[in-house]
Amino acid sequence: MGTASSPSSQGPCASEDKRAPGKRIFVNRSLTLEKIKFYGFDMDYTLAEYNSEEYEILGFELTKERLIQIGYPREIEKFQYKPGFPVRGLWWDNLHGNMLKVDGFGNILFCCHGLKFLKSEEIAQKYPNKFLQLDEKRIYVYNTLFNLPEIYLLACLIDYFQQHKDYKEVKDGFKANALHMSFKSVFQDIRGSVDWVHVQGNLKSKTCEDLPRYIKKDERLPQVLYNLQMSGAKTFLLTNSEWEYSNKVMEYLLDFPNAPYAGKSWQSYFNFTFVDARKPLFFGEGTVLRQVNKETGQLSIGTHTGNLEDSAVYSGGSSEVLSKLIGARGRDVLYVGDHIFGDVLKSKKLRGWRTFLIVPELNDELQVWTSKQELFSRLQRYDQELSELYRNMDSSDTARPNVEVIKGNIQETIHSMEMSYGTTGSIFRSGSRQTFFASQVTRYADIYAASVLNLLYYPTFYMFRAPAMLLPHESTVSHAVQLDQALGSGRQISSKSGGMVQRPPPSLQVASGQEPGATHDMDDDDIVEEEEQEASSD
Ligand SMILES: [Mg+2]
Repeated sequence: MGTASSPSSQGPCASEDKRAPGKRIFVNRSLTLEKIKFYGFDMDYTLAEYNSEEYEILGFELTKERLIQIGYPREIEKFQYKPGFPVRGLWWDNLHGNMLKVDGFGNILFCCHGLKFLKSEEIAQKYPNKFLQLDEKRIYVYNTLFNLPEIYLLACLIDYFQQHKDYKEVKDGFKANALHMSFKSVFQDIRGSVDWVHVQGNLKSKTCEDLPRYIKKDERLPQVLYNLQMSGAKTFLLTNSEWEYSNKVMEYLLDFPNAPYAGKSWQSYFNFTFVDARKPLFFGEGTVLRQVNKETGQLSIGTHTGNLEDSAVYSGGSSEVLSKLIGARGRDVLYVGDHIFGDVLKSKKLRGWRTFLIVPELNDELQVWTSKQELFSRLQRYDQELSELYRNMDSSDTARPNVEVIKGNIQETIHSMEMSYGTTGSIFRSGSRQTFFASQVTRYADIYAASVLNLLYYPTFYMFRAPAMLLPHESTVSHAVQLDQALGSGRQISSKSGGMVQRPPPSLQVASGQEPGATHDMDDDDIVEEEEQEASSD
């Protein structure tokens, strides 16, 4: 992902790829599919893409009901879900009761209190240097699409208490007579209610009552899984959902009259099935691995230790146990999931698995990227104008340029860009700056796409190549520029001086016979086994 202001770091343009942008898989680190021996799949939002608005409304309504049950005012019934409001990757701050979008370093891009967006000076008052550290006790990161309804519900509730005459806003929450309610307790009540709706409540039974309404079904899915198996690789399902729900959803997703395994169990598409995985715990200490009785859903007593049977279903376990049982080394596995933390960050950091992140929002993001080109060009133009004002200055210059007008124009353009995505903007960027979510994607997802179905458009021996990324000293200095021998002076020699290539000074040259030889690794794929230790201690 390049920035809007530095086209040189954007890599080859989309037109060089014959696939439509929505069918492509994008590459952060090169990866050869032929080297993958095991393909693991998450279920929710990876194989099973939920119908965004319908499913979020269902989650929103059920969570509201639960909050009323635990004592919240009945009036909150009137809140209506607004799909354009929430975006994944936002941070919630328990201390000040704010929703924030931050960049990869924790610099604040926007801050929202209830439904009100704070002005720059208001943000600076609460957050010195407009910076916030990711402290787990204080911050909650909304990592999954399951979180979208609760982001908006929390914003609505903060707004509700602010407006209500019986409640008075204090430093860390609200007061009504003897009652004190901290921002943190409101957050915890909502978080607890969402979990309750998912685990004990009837979100899953309501979903199963009308699967076509809530989950997208596509006949390319059985073909994708079948192709991978036919290439000689093994496939496994690894989901946090429990057996009964997983069974119903997977049966629905893979049941097509013309599918390769039509008439057989959906489990034919997987060599192994793991449910109740408890990711991210699964990638660390994990839980006990037990076999599931498929008829009753009952778990067997004790830890499963024998070989794994193809049609059996296992509950819990850990990635260490799974890897041993199926005989997989870290780099043999490509894990496909939508959860940046639970699926991708942990599997890569702790196990060295290759990672494929599913970002269902990507198609909407590409829609804005292509249809609002004018805004991106405008921003780039203003950025260039701003740098131009300073470019050729040296220490003899005394007059400061007036940058206020250009800065105002940049602000306005960034705002229009953000609003093209929705109230809280893009998942990946704010103007030319990348979000925390984007930095996590580039760091931990080897490849990413809008849908797992995009695998269908690549052969199973495909080599995904990462575009070369230039550093600032490379993207702003042309290869054609010739430097004089005293490299530190920065004085440039005209490239017209005979067209001779300047040789590096003798101290920088490698003596003949001392070359390192052809041992350079070209790709991540070429890294040998020993280096996995290093990756796992990261
Ligand atoms: Mg998922």
